[in-house]
Amino acid sequence: MNKLLSIIVPAYNEEGMVSIAAGEISRIIGQAKIPFEILFVDDGSKDGTWQDIKKAAEENEHIYGIRFSRNFGKESAMFAGLGYAKGDCCVLIDCDLQHPVEKIIEMYHLWEQGYEVVEGIKTNRGKENPFHALAAKMFYAMISKASKIDMSNASDFKLLDRKVVDVLLTMKERNAFFRALSSWVGFKSTTVEFEVRERVMGTSKWSAKALSKYALTNISSFSTAPMQIVTILGVMMLLASLVLGAIALYQKLTGLALDGFTTVILIQLFSGSIMMISLGIIGYYIARIYDEIKERPRYIVAESCGEKHDEK
Ligand code: UDP
Ligand code: MG
Repeated sequence: MNKLLSIIVPAYNEEGMVSIAAGEISRIIGQAKIPFEILFVDDGSKDGTWQDIKKAAEENEHIYGIRFSRNFGKESAMFAGLGYAKGDCCVLIDCDLQHPVEKIIEMYHLWEQGYEVVEGIKTNRGKENPFHALAAKMFYAMISKASKIDMSNASDFKLLDRKVVDVLLTMKERNAFFRALSSWVGFKSTTVEFEVRERVMGTSKWSAKALSKYALTNISSFSTAPMQIVTILGVMMLLASLVLGAIALYQKLTGLALDGFTTVILIQLFSGSIMMISLGIIGYYIARIYDEIKERPRYIVAESCGEKHDEK
């Protein structure tokens, strides 16, 4: 007996792409005779994405859609999809078809063989500008070290068993870093390699600002390393001041004490900057704690379309 597969598609300003993605997914998964449903999560789009989703849901009984009250980000959209999915396993895929739909079938068969997490691994990174590529490389190097999971080729394209989905849904973190969280939970996992395609239409939703924010939040949610760096800097600073202090004292005692202003100024600048950095980093973590304790919902659903689904 084949089991239900939920395909979750976060969509933000993907007008035009929705119907293409819906058609492509239905055709390929339908041909493979896998029972499926498609959940579109409209992440507060400003264009006609929601109209497209409603239309797709009317034409195709496999489609269900929810619309957020505003843009909450892709991570929240993925969580919402998991919360509403009915499937025995869920696949997360981008709306722009950069993730090859045929690979879902391979993932599903691996799941049938008993794997509970099937991660999509990129064999290339698609077309990116060099600045973006370098920033991404640095971010993944840091996050891989912090989470002790190799994330350099990780993607959000993955299949999760119902068990894993239920575990993820119990996690209370508001600022969850989805990609790392799905490996963090453990379970029997395997990988499927895929080639990142070019976007069929539209543009990438990531601005440089959005990307740096994404990187900072995710590094701080998976590691306290930045706070430890501060401690190390502080110790180094202390050692430096001990040496400088000894020299200054020696000069004073031997009557060699010159103006000494240079040292004073240097120390002032140096310690001042380290303190400011530390305060900044600590402030950043406090802000994160503040965000988490408010326990606001990850997303707010404004409306839905298609056959009724309940939120878990
Ligand atoms: N997306 C989203 N909310 C956002 C930004 C993006 O739901 O705030 C969706 C988007 O519609 C797409 C997927 O996330 O389905 C990947 O986005 P995009 O293609 O812009 O990212 P890239 O492929 O450039 O990393
Ligand atoms: Mg894309």
